[in-house]
Amino acid sequence: MNAKNAALLKESLEKQNVTLVAVSKTKPNEMIQDLYKEGFRIFGENRVQELVDKYESLPKDIKWHMIGNLQKNKVKYIAPFVTLIHSVSSLSLLQTINKEAFKNDRKIDILLQLKIAEEDSKSGLSKADVRDIIHDLNSGAYSSINIVGFMGMATFTDDMDQVRGEFQQLMSTAKTIISQSSLRIENPIYSMGMSGDYNVAIEEGSNMVRIGSLLFGSR
Ligand SMILES: *Cc1c(COP(=O)(O)O)cnc(C)c1O
Repeated sequence: MNAKNAALLKESLEKQNVTLVAVSKTKPNEMIQDLYKEGFRIFGENRVQELVDKYESLPKDIKWHMIGNLQKNKVKYIAPFVTLIHSVSSLSLLQTINKEAFKNDRKIDILLQLKIAEEDSKSGLSKADVRDIIHDLNSGAYSSINIVGFMGMATFTDDMDQVRGEFQQLMSTAKTIISQSSLRIENPIYSMGMSGDYNVAIEEGSNMVRIGSLLFGSR
């Protein structure tokens, strides 16, 4: 898709109150600049080194989202600047982010990644993990992070009924979590949907989609 069409997609999503995260992983800075010129400011990456390199060489008003599996020992490299971490899939990772945010004298916004796919390869928090996190939250832990919503990845399949069911599962689990805890989130972010399933995700309540190959071409 060329940059002009990408901008049209972004606009039409914005009209539906859906934020488009342009997933630029593996793509060169020039392609990011093309979208930047069309008004894109939110880009998502899934590797720490690549994220840091791009942050250093591209305009500073870009909001960088970390969307991929994050190793605890690498959190320190992105903690100074990352805008949102979507992929918080364990209690220990959450604790590390909290610690690194504190060291940087800032608060980091994060999403709780819930496990909704059948595939074992897709990570995410179980209901029991989420209960532990809420317990800690209620006792005042994690003062350097803001939990601003939820993220999930559906199974990679053509079966859109299955995908839809998994998105519904994310929404209902998230709503249960919010209602049963002291977690006060004004307008929760629901980060679900990628190139192949973002329409279904939006129908099921997504307000943030992470789109890569549709914008930038296949990887
Ligand atoms: C790569 C990636 C995307 C984007 O996938 P596309 O199918 O290229 O749109 C979205 N979310 C995560 C977590 C990813 O790693």
